[in-house]
Amino acid sequence: MSHILHRAANAVMPVAVAGRGIELFDRDGKSYIDASGGAAVSCLGHGHPDVIAALHKQLDTIAYAHTGFFTTEVAERLADRLVEDAPDGLDHVYLVSGGSEAVEAALKMARQYVVEKGEPKRRHIIARKQSYHGNTLGALATGGNEWRRAQFRPLLIETHHIDACYAYRLREDGESDADYAARSARQLEDKILELGADEVIAFVAETVVGATAGAVPPVGDYFKRIREICDRYGVLLILDEVMCGMGRTGTLHACEQDGVAPDLMTIAKGLGGGYQPVGAVLVSAQIFEAFSKGSGFFQHGHTYMGHPMAAAAGLAVQDIIRRDGLLDNVVAMGECLNRRLVERFGNHHHVGDIRGRGLFRGIELVRDRSTKEPFDPKLKLHALIKREAMGRGLMVYPMGGTIDGVQGDHVLLAPPFIVDETQIATIVERLGDAIDAALEGLPGNLTR
Ligand code: PLP
Repeated sequence: MSHILHRAANAVMPVAVAGRGIELFDRDGKSYIDASGGAAVSCLGHGHPDVIAALHKQLDTIAYAHTGFFTTEVAERLADRLVEDAPDGLDHVYLVSGGSEAVEAALKMARQYVVEKGEPKRRHIIARKQSYHGNTLGALATGGNEWRRAQFRPLLIETHHIDACYAYRLREDGESDADYAARSARQLEDKILELGADEVIAFVAETVVGATAGAVPPVGDYFKRIREICDRYGVLLILDEVMCGMGRTGTLHACEQDGVAPDLMTIAKGLGGGYQPVGAVLVSAQIFEAFSKGSGFFQHGHTYMGHPMAAAAGLAVQDIIRRDGLLDNVVAMGECLNRRLVERFGNHHHVGDIRGRGLFRGIELVRDRSTKEPFDPKLKLHALIKREAMGRGLMVYPMGGTIDGVQGDHVLLAPPFIVDETQIATIVERLGDAIDAALEGLPGNLTR
């Protein structure tokens, strides 16, 4: 019996004992291809010798020094590196221990910024439906995933949500990408005007939606329009790239492909690749200046922020990605993965959409391709797919509630940046078998 309260209280989990390259191994000797990087975390795969060496070295140097008393060389170097590669205008870094902490910090920075600027009336956060920004209360309130929020609603701060830019479901028949992008972005302007243009603090969005909808990229010039609307009304743009950032989509930051830079950006997962818990907020010069010339501090903090071991992991992972030119492999293997997915699922009766960027890909499952009707959520198709995939030695990241928090199923793929063509072929083959087995296991007449 386990004394851990696991994510599923009654789950009996396999015990992971080793990891090498793109594979994990359990205590019984079974191997699993990690085609989702856990939850889009393990960008370098497992057991990378250079990251391990960097961590040993850091442990021998200094393991911990509270940031209320000291800074450390390794944290400074990581911040230098992140700023060097940051989108325009982001020139400071706030180091934390994960994605939710990064989102919480960004929300509070945004609020403190408007207060320092003399606009304390600004109090509203706008985000998008079907987004995930973390599980702490502020981040959960910001996220737009109904099933995650439902039972905690009485504890959540008030937030406002517009639709995601989700072309497969929300673009109208005959509507062009450009028209849909314009219509979708206009929702933000309408919401700002509804709430009062001088009462909104920030708009928060995942550049490419991850866990809740399955690698949904924006279309057309959606984010350029969003940036313009934010600027027009003095609203900060917070891009949450905890999942889609740090190279996952083929550029270091996903928003590079959309030609925009946010005022605050959250990063985590791929920053440290799972070798240590680490996250960060990249902060614009303007916000930093407001703090430094205003109250002189950001009223926040955590015991483990800027942790030297976490910084060492982040720095080593980012050095290796750059040294080994891994973003080129993300682009090449991303195309290869997409091609394979289209070959395997392009004509599949129950795959409605194949989408994503780089090594961040999703497929959406439907009961009927022509009507896009989803499967009955009670069937928990996503859970069956996960079970079938694990049985075949494949880790993918399936989720339900794709459409509205209740309906819809998708599978998210986010393999390590070191993946090769042969491994991709195996991943897609195992995934195809797992999906077909899950569908065959559904009661009677639900599949064709
Ligand atoms: N933001 C996004 C976009 C995420 O995908 C996640 C986690 O999946 C988070 C925030 C929360 O990160 P963490 O689980 O590290 O707290």
